[in-house]
Amino acid sequence: MIVAIDGPAASGKGTLARRLAQHLGLPHLDTGLLYRATARALMDEGRDLADVAAAVAAARGLALVDFDEKLLRGRDMGEAASIVAAMPEVRRALVESQRAFARRPGGAVLDGRDIGTVICPEAEAKIFVTATPETRATRRALELKGQGEKVDYAVVLEDIRKRDERDANRSLAPLKPAEDAEILDTTMLDVEAAFKAAVAIVDRLRAAARPHSFSSSPE
Ligand code: C5P
Repeated sequence: MIVAIDGPAASGKGTLARRLAQHLGLPHLDTGLLYRATARALMDEGRDLADVAAAVAAARGLALVDFDEKLLRGRDMGEAASIVAAMPEVRRALVESQRAFARRPGGAVLDGRDIGTVICPEAEAKIFVTATPETRATRRALELKGQGEKVDYAVVLEDIRKRDERDANRSLAPLKPAEDAEILDTTMLDVEAAFKAAVAIVDRLRAAARPHSFSSSPE
């Protein structure tokens, strides 16, 4: 089973995807890390974030393992990632490795912005996780504080709004729910409640898929 979890920055989709993967016994790929690592590679080489050729080379050179999450999860890296993620050439360079991950035997859980729409339109379960910008900013501010970063709520909220705007308005693979995605609004939900709601969605979709696959059997 392929589970596609999409949603805007700090919607809680990463935590949800990790827990769902554990629950279902499936591997998990946080695709945001690919864009973050691409941006980081450019910065480490002293390149401009707008350098498309260098960004494509960095994206092609990524391995899907061993990301230094501490380095990649900082506030500035989300913003930098959304700049390289808006380049169609970079997105194209990353499509195949994401699809190969999704098509592992048994399936996988992937989270990002375009998993249900572009990477795995065939996913059996698609969940679009969302929450108000204010709720997401509060969560992100707490998370950054926990990582020892100095945070100003107003700046974090502004970051989130800017990133939403860039992610939703880019030409290729903009952030939007797939037509057949279930919307999970976590504004009023804590982590546990959001997880339970997601499990209920996956169970329902699995149950709905079962009679269909039996009825298509020749017996
Ligand atoms: O999910 P995360 O905040 O780590 O993603 C960082 C940035 O990477 C996003 O703001 C978005 O621009 C980009 N991204 C994307 N497509 C994905 C995952 C992330 O464009 N599938």
